[in-house]
Amino acid sequence: MNAFTELKKIIEANNSFLLMTHVNPDPDALGSELAFYSILKKLGKQVRVVNHSATPYNLEFMDEEKIIEKFDAEKHSELFAQVDVCVILDLNNAGRVVKMESGLRSFKGLKVCIDHHQDPEDIFDLIVGGTEYSATGEILFRFIKETKIAELDSFIANQLYVAIMTDTGSFRFERTTPEVHQMIAELISYGINPPEVYDKVYNQFNFGRVKLLGEALSTMQLDSTKQIAYMIVTKEMLERNETSEADVDGFVNYCLTIAGVEIGILFYELKDGIKISFRSKGEIAVNKLAAEFNGGGHRNASGSRLFNVTIDSIKEKVITTTQKYLNN
Ligand code: 5GP
Ligand code: MN
Repeated sequence: MNAFTELKKIIEANNSFLLMTHVNPDPDALGSELAFYSILKKLGKQVRVVNHSATPYNLEFMDEEKIIEKFDAEKHSELFAQVDVCVILDLNNAGRVVKMESGLRSFKGLKVCIDHHQDPEDIFDLIVGGTEYSATGEILFRFIKETKIAELDSFIANQLYVAIMTDTGSFRFERTTPEVHQMIAELISYGINPPEVYDKVYNQFNFGRVKLLGEALSTMQLDSTKQIAYMIVTKEMLERNETSEADVDGFVNYCLTIAGVEIGILFYELKDGIKISFRSKGEIAVNKLAAEFNGGGHRNASGSRLFNVTIDSIKEKVITTTQKYLNN
Protein backbone atom coordinates (compact mmCIF):
# COMPACT_ATOMS: atom_id res chain seq x y z
CA MET A 1 0.00 0.00 0.00
CA ASN A 2 1.44 3.42 -0.79
CA ALA A 3 1.79 6.08 1.88
CA PHE A 4 -1.13 8.16 0.55
CA THR A 5 -3.50 5.19 0.78
CA GLU A 6 -2.21 4.41 4.27
CA LEU A 7 -2.73 7.98 5.37
CA LYS A 8 -6.27 7.92 4.02
CA LYS A 9 -6.96 4.71 5.96
CA ILE A 10 -5.61 6.23 9.16
CA ILE A 11 -7.84 9.25 8.67
CA GLU A 12 -10.90 7.10 8.06
CA ALA A 13 -10.23 4.82 11.02
CA ASN A 14 -9.67 7.55 13.62
CA ASN A 15 -11.61 10.41 15.07
CA SER A 16 -9.36 12.97 16.72
CA PHE A 17 -6.17 14.55 15.40
CA LEU A 18 -3.51 16.88 16.72
CA LEU A 19 -1.49 18.76 14.10
CA MET A 20 1.77 20.53 14.83
CA THR A 21 4.73 22.03 13.04
CA HIS A 22 8.23 23.27 13.70
CA VAL A 23 9.47 26.16 15.82
CA ASN A 24 9.32 29.55 14.03
CA PRO A 25 6.89 28.25 11.41
CA ASP A 26 7.19 29.36 7.81
CA PRO A 27 4.33 29.62 5.29
CA ASP A 28 4.80 26.01 4.11
CA ALA A 29 4.44 24.83 7.70
CA LEU A 30 1.33 26.92 8.42
CA GLY A 31 -0.32 26.45 5.03
CA SER A 32 0.14 22.68 5.25
CA GLU A 33 -1.33 22.55 8.76
CA LEU A 34 -4.33 24.68 7.78
CA ALA A 35 -4.97 22.77 4.55
CA PHE A 36 -4.76 19.42 6.37
CA TYR A 37 -6.99 20.78 9.14
CA SER A 38 -9.56 21.74 6.53
CA ILE A 39 -9.49 18.29 4.89
CA LEU A 40 -10.04 16.61 8.26
CA LYS A 41 -12.86 19.00 9.20
CA LYS A 42 -14.62 18.28 5.89
CA LEU A 43 -14.61 14.63 6.96
CA GLY A 44 -16.18 15.50 10.32
CA LYS A 45 -13.07 14.83 12.42
CA GLN A 46 -12.06 16.54 15.64
CA VAL A 47 -8.90 18.49 14.97
CA ARG A 48 -6.62 20.82 16.91
CA VAL A 49 -3.61 22.62 15.55
CA VAL A 50 -1.12 23.50 18.29
CA ASN A 51 2.37 24.88 17.70
CA HIS A 52 5.35 25.60 19.90
CA SER A 53 5.66 29.09 18.40
CA ALA A 54 3.09 31.80 17.92
CA THR A 55 2.26 32.45 14.26
CA PRO A 56 4.70 35.15 13.00
CA TYR A 57 2.91 38.51 12.74
CA ASN A 58 3.38 38.80 8.98
CA LEU A 59 1.73 35.40 8.43
CA GLU A 60 -1.35 35.96 10.61
CA PHE A 61 -3.32 36.63 7.42
CA MET A 62 -3.07 32.89 6.69
CA ASP A 63 -5.10 32.03 9.80
CA GLU A 64 -7.91 34.60 9.86
CA GLU A 65 -10.12 32.26 11.87
CA LYS A 66 -7.40 31.78 14.49
CA ILE A 67 -7.49 28.01 14.26
CA ILE A 68 -3.89 27.64 15.40
CA GLU A 69 -3.15 27.64 19.14
CA LYS A 70 0.19 28.37 20.77
CA PHE A 71 1.33 25.59 23.08
CA ASP A 72 1.00 26.33 26.79
CA ALA A 73 2.21 23.56 29.11
CA GLU A 74 -0.52 24.29 31.70
CA LYS A 75 -3.45 24.82 29.38
CA HIS A 76 -2.42 21.88 27.18
CA SER A 77 -1.41 19.39 29.87
CA GLU A 78 -4.04 16.87 28.66
CA LEU A 79 -3.57 17.63 24.97
CA PHE A 80 -1.80 14.46 23.89
CA ALA A 81 -4.03 12.22 26.01
CA GLN A 82 -7.11 13.49 24.17
CA VAL A 83 -6.23 12.51 20.59
CA ASP A 84 -5.95 9.35 18.50
CA VAL A 85 -3.38 10.59 16.00
CA CYS A 86 -0.56 13.15 16.06
CA VAL A 87 0.44 14.56 12.68
CA ILE A 88 3.60 16.60 12.32
CA LEU A 89 3.92 18.63 9.14
CA ASP A 90 7.03 20.14 7.52
CA LEU A 91 9.51 18.59 9.95
CA ASN A 92 10.73 15.06 10.56
CA ASN A 93 12.56 15.33 13.83
CA ALA A 94 10.73 15.59 17.16
CA GLY A 95 13.28 18.06 18.58
CA ARG A 96 11.89 20.72 16.26
CA VAL A 97 8.60 20.95 18.17
CA VAL A 98 10.67 22.07 21.20
CA LYS A 99 8.26 22.28 24.17
CA MET A 100 5.97 19.68 22.61
CA GLU A 101 8.79 17.20 22.06
CA SER A 102 8.31 15.12 25.21
CA GLY A 103 4.54 14.91 24.63
CA LEU A 104 5.12 13.75 21.06
CA ARG A 105 7.79 11.21 21.98
CA SER A 106 5.71 9.60 24.72
CA PHE A 107 2.45 9.77 22.74
CA LYS A 108 0.72 6.38 22.75
CA GLY A 109 -1.43 6.80 19.63
CA LEU A 110 -0.37 6.89 15.98
CA LYS A 111 2.39 9.28 14.95
CA VAL A 112 2.33 10.47 11.34
CA CYS A 113 4.95 12.63 9.64
CA ILE A 114 4.12 14.56 6.44
CA ASP A 115 7.33 16.18 5.25
CA HIS A 116 9.92 16.79 2.53
CA HIS A 117 13.21 16.87 4.48
CA GLN A 118 15.99 14.27 4.46
CA ASP A 119 16.59 11.56 7.06
CA PRO A 120 13.38 11.33 9.10
CA GLU A 121 13.73 10.23 12.67
CA ASP A 122 12.71 6.62 13.32
CA ILE A 123 9.73 7.25 15.61
CA PHE A 124 6.78 7.48 13.21
CA ASP A 125 4.10 4.92 12.37
CA LEU A 126 3.79 6.46 8.93
CA ILE A 127 5.94 8.86 6.90
CA VAL A 128 4.29 10.57 3.93
CA GLY A 129 6.34 12.57 1.41
CA GLY A 130 10.05 12.65 0.61
CA THR A 131 12.76 14.98 -0.61
CA GLU A 132 11.44 14.90 -4.18
CA TYR A 133 8.62 17.26 -3.17
CA SER A 134 9.17 21.02 -3.43
CA ALA A 135 7.09 21.71 -0.31
CA THR A 136 4.97 19.94 2.27
CA GLY A 137 2.09 21.77 0.55
CA GLU A 138 2.86 19.86 -2.64
CA ILE A 139 2.61 16.53 -0.77
CA LEU A 140 -0.87 17.50 0.41
CA PHE A 141 -1.91 18.55 -3.10
CA ARG A 142 -0.82 15.16 -4.49
CA PHE A 143 -2.50 13.38 -1.58
CA ILE A 144 -5.82 15.12 -2.28
CA LYS A 145 -5.60 14.44 -6.01
CA GLU A 146 -4.55 10.82 -5.75
CA THR A 147 -6.89 9.68 -2.99
CA LYS A 148 -9.79 12.08 -3.70
CA ILE A 149 -10.16 12.31 0.06
CA ALA A 150 -11.74 15.77 -0.19
CA GLU A 151 -12.60 18.42 -2.74
CA LEU A 152 -10.11 21.20 -3.32
CA ASP A 153 -11.65 24.57 -2.47
CA SER A 154 -10.44 28.14 -2.35
CA PHE A 155 -9.31 27.94 1.30
CA ILE A 156 -7.18 24.84 0.72
CA ALA A 157 -5.93 26.19 -2.62
CA ASN A 158 -4.82 29.44 -0.99
CA GLN A 159 -2.97 27.64 1.80
CA LEU A 160 -1.21 25.31 -0.63
CA TYR A 161 -0.36 28.12 -3.01
CA VAL A 162 1.34 30.14 -0.25
CA ALA A 163 3.14 27.01 0.97
CA ILE A 164 4.53 26.14 -2.46
CA MET A 165 5.25 29.70 -3.57
CA THR A 166 7.43 30.33 -0.52
CA ASP A 167 9.20 26.96 -0.34
CA THR A 168 10.20 27.21 -4.01
CA GLY A 169 11.60 30.72 -3.40
CA SER A 170 8.76 32.11 -5.53
CA PHE A 171 9.27 29.41 -8.18
CA ARG A 172 13.01 29.66 -8.66
CA PHE A 173 14.57 26.81 -6.64
CA GLU A 174 15.71 23.53 -8.13
CA ARG A 175 12.53 21.55 -7.58
CA THR A 176 10.44 24.04 -9.57
CA THR A 177 9.44 21.57 -12.27
CA PRO A 178 6.82 21.65 -15.04
CA GLU A 179 4.65 19.54 -12.70
CA VAL A 180 4.95 22.20 -9.99
CA HIS A 181 3.80 24.87 -12.45
CA GLN A 182 0.88 22.66 -13.53
CA MET A 183 -0.15 22.23 -9.92
CA ILE A 184 0.13 26.00 -9.35
CA ALA A 185 -1.98 26.66 -12.46
CA GLU A 186 -4.72 24.51 -10.98
CA LEU A 187 -4.47 26.20 -7.58
CA ILE A 188 -4.69 29.67 -9.18
CA SER A 189 -7.92 28.61 -10.88
CA TYR A 190 -9.55 28.62 -7.42
CA GLY A 191 -9.44 32.41 -7.45
CA ILE A 192 -5.94 33.15 -6.22
CA ASN A 193 -4.46 36.53 -7.08
CA PRO A 194 -0.67 35.96 -7.23
CA PRO A 195 0.48 39.61 -6.83
CA GLU A 196 -1.84 40.01 -3.83
CA VAL A 197 -0.53 36.85 -2.15
CA TYR A 198 3.07 37.85 -2.81
CA ASP A 199 2.40 41.29 -1.34
CA LYS A 200 0.87 39.82 1.83
CA VAL A 201 3.82 37.49 2.40
CA TYR A 202 6.75 39.72 1.45
CA ASN A 203 5.66 43.36 1.59
CA GLN A 204 3.96 43.72 4.97
CA PHE A 205 6.87 43.84 7.41
CA ASN A 206 7.46 46.32 10.20
CA PHE A 207 9.72 49.29 9.52
CA GLY A 208 12.05 47.87 12.18
CA ARG A 209 12.70 44.83 10.02
CA VAL A 210 14.20 46.93 7.26
CA LYS A 211 16.37 48.83 9.78
CA LEU A 212 17.46 45.50 11.25
CA LEU A 213 18.29 44.19 7.78
CA GLY A 214 20.52 47.24 7.25
CA GLU A 215 22.37 46.55 10.49
CA ALA A 216 22.67 42.85 9.76
CA LEU A 217 24.09 43.55 6.30
CA SER A 218 26.70 45.84 7.90
CA THR A 219 27.96 42.91 9.98
CA MET A 220 28.63 40.81 6.87
CA GLN A 221 32.15 39.49 6.44
CA LEU A 222 33.96 37.15 4.08
CA ASP A 223 36.21 34.32 5.28
CA SER A 224 39.81 33.98 4.04
CA THR A 225 38.70 32.03 0.94
CA LYS A 226 36.10 34.70 0.06
CA GLN A 227 33.70 31.85 -0.67
CA ILE A 228 31.91 32.06 2.67
CA ALA A 229 29.94 35.14 3.73
CA TYR A 230 28.56 35.39 7.24
CA MET A 231 26.47 37.83 9.21
CA ILE A 232 25.30 38.30 12.78
CA VAL A 233 22.04 39.30 14.42
CA THR A 234 22.23 39.83 18.19
CA LYS A 235 19.44 40.08 20.74
CA GLU A 236 20.42 43.69 21.27
CA MET A 237 19.95 44.49 17.55
CA LEU A 238 16.57 42.75 17.62
CA GLU A 239 15.35 44.65 20.67
CA ARG A 240 16.62 48.03 19.54
CA ASN A 241 14.66 47.73 16.29
CA GLU A 242 11.57 46.29 18.02
CA THR A 243 11.77 43.16 15.91
CA SER A 244 11.48 39.41 16.49
CA GLU A 245 12.82 36.14 15.10
CA ALA A 246 10.24 36.18 12.30
CA ASP A 247 11.82 39.37 10.98
CA VAL A 248 15.20 37.69 10.44
CA ASP A 249 13.75 35.15 8.02
CA GLY A 250 15.44 35.49 4.63
CA PHE A 251 18.39 37.66 5.72
CA VAL A 252 20.91 34.85 5.16
CA ASN A 253 20.07 34.74 1.46
CA TYR A 254 21.86 38.08 0.97
CA CYS A 255 25.15 36.26 1.61
CA LEU A 256 24.71 34.36 -1.65
CA THR A 257 24.22 37.51 -3.72
CA ILE A 258 28.00 38.15 -3.68
CA ALA A 259 29.95 36.84 -6.68
CA GLY A 260 32.19 33.94 -5.69
CA VAL A 261 30.37 33.19 -2.43
CA GLU A 262 29.23 29.57 -2.25
CA ILE A 263 28.01 29.33 1.35
CA GLY A 264 26.18 31.89 3.47
CA ILE A 265 25.89 31.74 7.25
CA LEU A 266 23.75 33.72 9.64
CA PHE A 267 24.46 33.60 13.38
CA TYR A 268 21.41 34.58 15.34
CA GLU A 269 21.37 35.06 19.09
CA LEU A 270 18.48 33.37 20.94
CA LYS A 271 17.34 33.89 24.53
CA ASP A 272 19.27 30.86 25.69
CA GLY A 273 21.64 29.98 22.88
CA ILE A 274 22.07 30.57 19.17
CA LYS A 275 20.59 29.61 15.85
CA ILE A 276 22.74 29.19 12.77
CA SER A 277 21.28 29.31 9.26
CA PHE A 278 23.24 27.92 6.34
CA ARG A 279 22.60 28.48 2.63
CA SER A 280 24.60 27.12 -0.30
CA LYS A 281 24.74 27.07 -4.06
CA GLY A 282 24.69 23.97 -6.28
CA GLU A 283 25.92 20.66 -4.97
CA ILE A 284 27.25 21.88 -1.60
CA ALA A 285 25.26 19.96 1.02
CA VAL A 286 24.77 22.29 3.96
CA ASN A 287 22.32 19.89 5.59
CA LYS A 288 25.39 17.72 6.33
CA LEU A 289 27.22 20.77 7.63
CA ALA A 290 24.28 21.66 9.89
CA ALA A 291 24.21 18.07 11.13
CA GLU A 292 27.75 18.59 12.49
CA PHE A 293 26.14 21.18 14.76
CA ASN A 294 23.13 19.13 15.77
CA GLY A 295 20.88 20.53 13.02
CA GLY A 296 19.63 19.53 9.60
CA GLY A 297 17.51 20.64 6.67
CA HIS A 298 17.77 20.61 2.91
CA ARG A 299 20.87 20.43 0.72
CA ASN A 300 20.91 24.17 0.01
CA ALA A 301 19.13 25.48 3.14
CA SER A 302 19.73 24.19 6.62
CA GLY A 303 19.99 25.28 10.22
CA SER A 304 20.97 24.38 13.76
CA ARG A 305 19.88 25.52 17.18
CA LEU A 306 22.47 25.28 19.93
CA PHE A 307 21.61 25.96 23.53
CA ASN A 308 23.96 27.46 26.12
CA VAL A 309 26.47 28.49 23.46
CA THR A 310 27.50 32.03 22.46
CA ILE A 311 28.18 33.27 18.92
CA ASP A 312 31.70 34.38 19.90
CA SER A 313 32.57 30.98 21.34
CA ILE A 314 31.58 29.01 18.25
CA LYS A 315 31.92 31.32 15.25
CA GLU A 316 35.50 30.38 14.31
CA LYS A 317 34.76 26.66 14.63
CA VAL A 318 31.69 26.98 12.42
CA ILE A 319 33.64 28.84 9.74
CA THR A 320 36.54 26.35 9.78
CA THR A 321 34.08 23.46 9.56
CA THR A 322 32.23 25.21 6.72
CA GLN A 323 35.48 25.58 4.73
CA LYS A 324 35.67 21.76 4.50
CA TYR A 325 32.47 21.85 2.43
CA LEU A 326 33.81 24.21 -0.24
CA ASN A 327 34.49 22.63 -3.62
CA ASN A 328 38.12 23.72 -3.83
P1 5GP B 1 16.14 28.59 8.37
O1 5GP B 1 17.58 28.91 8.26
O2 5GP B 1 15.33 29.25 7.31
O3 5GP B 1 15.58 28.75 9.73
O4 5GP B 1 16.04 27.04 8.10
C1 5GP B 1 16.34 26.48 6.85
C2 5GP B 1 16.00 25.00 6.88
O5 5GP B 1 16.89 24.37 7.78
C3 5GP B 1 14.61 24.72 7.42
O6 5GP B 1 13.71 24.59 6.36
C4 5GP B 1 14.79 23.43 8.13
O7 5GP B 1 14.67 22.40 7.20
C5 5GP B 1 16.23 23.41 8.57
N1 5GP B 1 16.46 23.76 9.97
C6 5GP B 1 16.54 24.99 10.53
N2 5GP B 1 16.82 24.92 11.84
C7 5GP B 1 16.93 23.61 12.13
C8 5GP B 1 17.23 22.88 13.34
O8 5GP B 1 17.43 23.45 14.42
N3 5GP B 1 17.24 21.53 13.24
C9 5GP B 1 17.01 20.87 12.06
N4 5GP B 1 17.06 19.54 12.06
N5 5GP B 1 16.76 21.52 10.92
C10 5GP B 1 16.71 22.86 10.94
MN1 MN C 1 8.76 23.10 3.84
